[in-house]
Amino acid sequence: MHIEELKIDGYEKVVRCEDPATGLKAIIAVHNTNLGPAVGGTRLFPYASEDAALTDVLRLSRGMTYKSSLAGINFGGGKSVIIADPKDKSPEMLKAFGRFVNTLGGLYICAEDVNTSPSDMEIVYTETRHVAGLNKDGGDPSPFTALGVVESIKATAAKLDLPMSELSVAIQGVGHVGWYMTVMLREMGTTVYITDLRTDLVDELAAKTGAIAIKPDEIMTWECDILAPCAMGATLNDETIPALKCKAVVGCANNQLADLKHAKMLHERGILYGPDYLVNAGGIINVFYERKPEGYVESASKQACRDIAKTLTNIFEMSERKSMTTAEAADRIAEQRFLAHRVQMVG
Ligand code: NAD
Repeated sequence: MHIEELKIDGYEKVVRCEDPATGLKAIIAVHNTNLGPAVGGTRLFPYASEDAALTDVLRLSRGMTYKSSLAGINFGGGKSVIIADPKDKSPEMLKAFGRFVNTLGGLYICAEDVNTSPSDMEIVYTETRHVAGLNKDGGDPSPFTALGVVESIKATAAKLDLPMSELSVAIQGVGHVGWYMTVMLREMGTTVYITDLRTDLVDELAAKTGAIAIKPDEIMTWECDILAPCAMGATLNDETIPALKCKAVVGCANNQLADLKHAKMLHERGILYGPDYLVNAGGIINVFYERKPEGYVESASKQACRDIAKTLTNIFEMSERKSMTTAEAADRIAEQRFLAHRVQMVG
């Protein structure tokens, strides 16, 4: 196994590994550990080049620093990528990856991500303890993510001065997270419109909860108070934003803004945007509580997920006071926390 350190400005440690015996080619990026060990998923993807893989891992690891900081948990930001076709993934390759993670001595903790599963992480775990989100841990993070999104929707409704019973929410994607959200919102008497490419899910959920089914191509122009993108990324873009008929966008999908300029477009249209990386932080919050040395307390984890709403309210307030987008306000609050922590440690 050949390991080489890459010096990248603004990153604490970036290492690449090549292991011809198993076919492993991987990069781990540790962006910042001021708050704690760098935690972030392992993405396995057939990147077109090593440069493309490096760009992705740098961007994603930085995003994790901001996410954990804003969520109020003491994790730093890291990420790893394995450059491979998913069909070439093998136990030997995953074990070699575990040995690679282990060389960092706990500076980085890996977890499942695109094309890696909790079962893959079990294999990685045979070579290193520095793995989160194993089958033996909490399992499905979606109920915690859904709790954070619903609390964010409640904070947004309060900002819009609407009681939950008079609110309407349109959810794009009723998979793991969107499903739980629909159930919780319906219990509060909220009108919920749902759509998914899987009509079987929509029909079952509508019958179970009284949510109203709409078509996938209607959602981005549906008249409602809050639009909740819960399927895929880049749904907020040059085409969709001018046509939106909602007062706010608050959902769990990652990377909802196609580009940062789209936060400004929403701001200029007077549409409140709940920064996705805060709104969907329930899953990583629960991982943090699962790894508490004193043991897991579910009520504490749930309370921390609910506290996402307080941070979102602060973001709305800062965005108004400083005439900045909510995306910018989120970044500033996240930076304040992890940078202040470094000052504390150095001081
Ligand atoms: P999921 O795959 O279980 O559900 C997504 C659903 O969206 C699927 O049912 C799919 O059929 C549907 N869908 C896809 N394209 C669609 C389209 N064009 N129109 C309507 N429906 C469409 O995923 P999930 O775990 O519920 O996560 C949803 C999103 O939230 C993803 O972007 C994910 O990365 C993000 N996220 C999830 C978690 C979590 O805890 N699961 C945490 C953070 C972020």
